[in-house]
Amino acid sequence: MADTMAVDPAKANDLMMRVWPAAVARVKEEVADMTAIARKEPGNRAFVLEPWDYLYYAEKVRAKKYALDQTQLTPYFELGHMIDASFYMAERLYGLRFTEISGTVPVFHPDVRVWKVEAADGRYVGLFYGDYFARAGKRSGAWATSYRRHETFTGGTLTPLASNNNNFVRGAAGAPVLISLDDAETLFHEFGHALHGLLSEVNYPGLGTTPRDFVEYPSQVHEQWVLSRPILDKFALHYQTGKPMPPALVAKIEQAATFNQGYGTVEYLTSAILDMRLHMLPDPSAVDPAAFERDTLAAIGAPREVAMRHRLPQFNHLFTSDAYSAGYYSYLWSEVMDADTRDAFREAGDVFDPTVAGKLRQHILAPGNTTDRAEAYRAFRGRDPDVGALLRKRGFPTK
Ligand SMILES: [Zn+2]
Repeated sequence: MADTMAVDPAKANDLMMRVWPAAVARVKEEVADMTAIARKEPGNRAFVLEPWDYLYYAEKVRAKKYALDQTQLTPYFELGHMIDASFYMAERLYGLRFTEISGTVPVFHPDVRVWKVEAADGRYVGLFYGDYFARAGKRSGAWATSYRRHETFTGGTLTPLASNNNNFVRGAAGAPVLISLDDAETLFHEFGHALHGLLSEVNYPGLGTTPRDFVEYPSQVHEQWVLSRPILDKFALHYQTGKPMPPALVAKIEQAATFNQGYGTVEYLTSAILDMRLHMLPDPSAVDPAAFERDTLAAIGAPREVAMRHRLPQFNHLFTSDAYSAGYYSYLWSEVMDADTRDAFREAGDVFDPTVAGKLRQHILAPGNTTDRAEAYRAFRGRDPDVGALLRKRGFPTK
């Protein structure tokens, strides 16, 4: 872990074990809610929840508690509007301007759109490629990549070529492409990776990328603007009526955001904690994975109702390469900074606060890995990241 932001495995463990008790306590509440619903079903009075029942009954609780389903939201998230919204965010935060130049530069597929990116003073910054639609032979999921990173090392300035890739399903000819809230957040997430690349000011290409426990922070933090009032009012317009999303519906989304976070956190943390403990064994040669898994889960008091997200024998991150071994904690580590940065904008009272945005750019996004990332965070926020921000974001008590 020498080249990570955490550096010391003990720090990663401390974070995980700080979040763990709150997550376990929340699972107990979730199980109680689900058991109450199940026991009202005919012939089910003695119901005891098993791991395989969890998501089934969680959906029943969700429907009862929040009365929210995705079909209420998709009419507000039209793909073209959301792409424009992401550019608007970049302009408000960092002064970047995006001008479409598709057709004037070579691309690997006619679907790919290209934008020229310029700074507020007109200086050329780089190119942004968007490849949004699913097609035969294309890798699934959503990702960001760089065709070229910013550098000045080889003479002159090499400008970044950033790309976002999604698998949205194209509608009928002329029909709007409506995406889910999750998809809109993914769009902003990948765009956050692109902004990290576009705003880079590093000299050496080798310092253009950041440690794995930092790299998801710039992407995750940009998801927050999807549900910000200025973006909703300008861009989340109903595709038929043109009206913005009503505040009552936004409130419903916000209430439902912390739903089932006990489950989500525990299923993730059991895998992350076991990953780290396995890597900290002085001599792993005689390890019996099944016994190690069983004994460690018992030792940390893992709730029996939640299965691990990845059990050890099929835990891809654990052994396929060194890139992610002892690294599954990274997502949580990055999320603490993401949640704490959301709070910084909230405290400033403006989701586009220029001072906070300027510091975010200067200390977090522009330097790549040329400065210690923990020091960079302190320069940005005036202190270390606050785990309380993550606990609040997940709806857990902070004490
Ligand atoms: Zn990402």
